[in-house]
Amino acid sequence: MEGLKLDWRKGLDSSFLSHTPMDFYQSFSNPTLFEIDGESDECLFISTLLHGNETTGFYSLQRFLKQFENKKPKRNLLVLIGNPQAARADVRHLPKQKDFNRIWREESLELVNSLLQGLAQRKVFACVDIHNTTGKNPPYSVIHNLSEEYLALAKVFSENIIYFVQPKEALSVRLSEDYLAMTIECGLSSRRDSIDEVFTFLNALHDKDHSELKIQERPKVYNSYGRLFVPKDAEFAFDSLSHVDFSFIPDIEDLNFKSVKAGHVFGNYYSEKRLILLDREDKDISDEYIEYKNGEISFKKGVRPSLLTSNSSSVRQDVLGYLMESVKY
Ligand SMILES: [Zn+2]
Repeated sequence: MEGLKLDWRKGLDSSFLSHTPMDFYQSFSNPTLFEIDGESDECLFISTLLHGNETTGFYSLQRFLKQFENKKPKRNLLVLIGNPQAARADVRHLPKQKDFNRIWREESLELVNSLLQGLAQRKVFACVDIHNTTGKNPPYSVIHNLSEEYLALAKVFSENIIYFVQPKEALSVRLSEDYLAMTIECGLSSRRDSIDEVFTFLNALHDKDHSELKIQERPKVYNSYGRLFVPKDAEFAFDSLSHVDFSFIPDIEDLNFKSVKAGHVFGNYYSEKRLILLDREDKDISDEYIEYKNGEISFKKGVRPSLLTSNSSSVRQDVLGYLMESVKY
């Protein structure tokens, strides 16, 4: 598989600070890890651009690292720029590549082996993998362990916390087995306000000590229980107007993370085709949750959606969105 050699670079290469995600490959064509010496040998590992078109982390890291051109960070920093070739093409991954956030059990791959070995030889404080979502979502943290320090780490970034342990091949799921690790999801790519938020978060985390990773009370944590699909042969639009099988409301993404009441209309239907809602065991639970009446599609029960997207190709390849419930723990 192409582009899977990991280049380790000692020090902060200032040319990194002047690149965009799209031209980063001109100086660094492989996945590249910058190792910047700090005051303490404990290291903070931050990764981004595992998905080439999710650029918030890249710009936030440039601002964060610029502060250390002339002074040492408090602790060692390990910064991984995951997929420069995909970033060049502004895509999640190239057609010939695997998804770089689904490879972290394949220790035969040099990238995987090199990173895991490198971390094992170091004293790791925490690991953060930075991503964006395709649709509009508030910023949220994703953890894979519900013990106190993981919850406290999640809260440094956001009060919105999601918990899951699948897919096991995702980087932060793999790293959570050995280290304090999480993913942060920063909403749509490259928005200035989310770059500011991540920059603030990186500074806050960099300043924290282990002893400060505590919580007063258990925060609400969500987990998705349902995946909502549009049937493969259906036509759909997001304008509430088109007479196709499903015409969803244009601002469907605004429902993400909100408590949506029973009866809330999120689209119109013009055929006998029906959406498909599958639970964790792939059981069809559509009838329990979705109502079709007088041409309108609504929720039968109160729900809390996430990752609803109006990006048609995402809907075709994957899902319309998820439904979440709070985790009892
Ligand atoms: Zn991603």
